[in-house]
Amino acid sequence: PAVILLQNIEKSYVTGKQALPVLKGVSLQILKNEYVALMGPSGSGKSTLMNILGCLDTPTAGRYILSGQDVSSMEDDDLALVRNKEIGFVFQQFNLMPRLSAWENVAVPLIYAGINAKERQERAMAMLARVGLSERAKHKPNELSGGQSQRVAIARALINNPSLILADEPTGNLDTKTSIEIMDIFSSLQAAGNTVVLVTHEEDIADHAHRVVRLRDGVIESDRINEKITV
Ligand code: ADP
Ligand code: ADP
Repeated sequence: PAVILLQNIEKSYVTGKQALPVLKGVSLQILKNEYVALMGPSGSGKSTLMNILGCLDTPTAGRYILSGQDVSSMEDDDLALVRNKEIGFVFQQFNLMPRLSAWENVAVPLIYAGINAKERQERAMAMLARVGLSERAKHKPNELSGGQSQRVAIARALINNPSLILADEPTGNLDTKTSIEIMDIFSSLQAAGNTVVLVTHEEDIADHAHRVVRLRDGVIESDRINEKITV
């Protein structure tokens, strides 16, 4: 089944009397269990597309079906509900809460979901185990390396069982070796049935995804399966 179905997505930003077209007819299908790297030069529309995929913004024209639900013209409140239920976000800057331990950071989304304290801790610990970080569970972000911090952020993104993981330059602050470890974690998530879309500028990093989509000037320039990667 398609997690993401984009049909002729257009997005323009209006400033004054001018409308700047940024996405000019993007059609794309991403199935459950795909691991996609989105690439493209600066200004090609990657952030704009990620914001639409993440239900942070809606397209000017075209349809976006997320897990079978048309989210293209939803009002902000409904969009926020879909976003919280369906999407896990991972950022370049990790965005962890400095005063909370690793497991407490992972558990934050469960507070909003109304889960009790005992279950929050159990589920957060299980998720940290999945990203290989059990032994750092009680440490604060300032006691964690960049790679460890990003593992915490990935565990947090997964905790509500989202249908889609969206990562914006998740390796942008990490050295090459650590970046590859993070890409391998996404591979293991794919193997476990998750769907991952990430933005990267680095070809060496994109090589670890099983599919590479390239944007240029607001259209998809190429869309290729990476034959070297077996799922
Ligand atoms: P990328 O992420 O590939 O660098 P973006 O989606 O950030 O591309 O930007 C594509 C184009 O849209 C750029 O020309 C940028 O200046 C413009 N743009 C992005 N966001 C806005 C906004 N909120 N208002 C007006 N223009 C924007
Ligand atoms: P950049 O890629 O320029 O470093 P960020 O990584 O901070 O920017 O943010 C990437 C995108 O994620 C932005 O378009 C922003 O709108 C969105 N974003 C930032 N913070 C959050 C958040 N807490 N929840 C959901 N989306 C966010």
